[in-house]
Amino acid sequence: METIAFIGLGNMGAPMASNLLAAGLNVQVFDLLDSLTKPLGQAGAKVCHSIEDVVAGADSVVTMLPAGEHVKRVYLGEGDSKGVIHSVGKSTLLIDSSTIDPESARLVADEAAQRGLDFADAPVSGGVAGAAAGTLTFIVGGSERAFKRAEQVLGHMGKNIFHAGDSGCGQMGKICNNLMLGILMSGTCEALNLGIANGLDPNVLSNIMLQSSGRNWALELYNPCPGVMPNAPASNQYQPGFMTKLMLKDLGLGLEAAAQSQSPVPMGALARNLYAFHSMHGNQEVDFSSLFEFYRAQQG
Ligand code: NAD
Repeated sequence: METIAFIGLGNMGAPMASNLLAAGLNVQVFDLLDSLTKPLGQAGAKVCHSIEDVVAGADSVVTMLPAGEHVKRVYLGEGDSKGVIHSVGKSTLLIDSSTIDPESARLVADEAAQRGLDFADAPVSGGVAGAAAGTLTFIVGGSERAFKRAEQVLGHMGKNIFHAGDSGCGQMGKICNNLMLGILMSGTCEALNLGIANGLDPNVLSNIMLQSSGRNWALELYNPCPGVMPNAPASNQYQPGFMTKLMLKDLGLGLEAAAQSQSPVPMGALARNLYAFHSMHGNQEVDFSSLFEFYRAQQG
């Protein structure tokens, strides 16, 4: 039976690894926080305590880490750790599903290639709910061969798997998507707050916009106003979900890419400033849809 090493069992990694277990694969898990690996151990995964341990005997490695610096550390090694690339067998497939800068993804892919290893950058869209339901969208960068191999593993965790292009293109596709999402969520919060401030019921207004040209993903699946959508983070004190600090990171990646290609991103820059302000006011760790509370707080 195929063995998958899974590193990073946070909000996204834990449900993704659970789906690999549910598919009947051997799953070995590692996170810096033991409290996060324990439930997976109880569900049948092998709990490991180092990078070297977790990748031993693995056919594929999947990582789900916060940012580029963590991905470089885990793959290239640091201190006592040799890193994934220098600890795996020759035919092991490497998949990073974190959202990071394309340059770091290409650096890790190049290092992997020097050892003859296939590496795919495969960031996801779909959030914690999509991770739990196994319906994530994967946006993959890498060679045709890496993509074909990755597709087999990713199919256990997602529904749509796109080959965006060479190494780094998966990350670039994801960055464009999240620039759009950051803008959409800000606009959705703004419109809902405006309606409420002028006497509209947020449930009624949401329904109107869902059937009109203001319809969008945030309204449809992730309404930021508490009480409108029982399963959205907004109705659970904005927990769990996609943390404000991660949206801020992604918008920063969008702005960096825009600076490199000299692309105009005025809307993305404005959205980034809104999230930066919101984050600075103690909201780093809550779901990004809590930006709605920022609008409520500014309301005269
Ligand atoms: P998270 O912070 O909940 O999880 C990251 C995990 O990585 C943590 O448990 C942390 O302990 C672990 N980690 C960090 N460094 C490590 C190391 N050196 N070795 C082992 N484990 C290490 O973050 P998340 O919400 O699960 O997001 C993960 C990635 O997925 C991010 O890049 C994020 O931008 C992206 N993403 C998140 C969502 C979402 O809705 N949460 C959606 C799409 C994409």
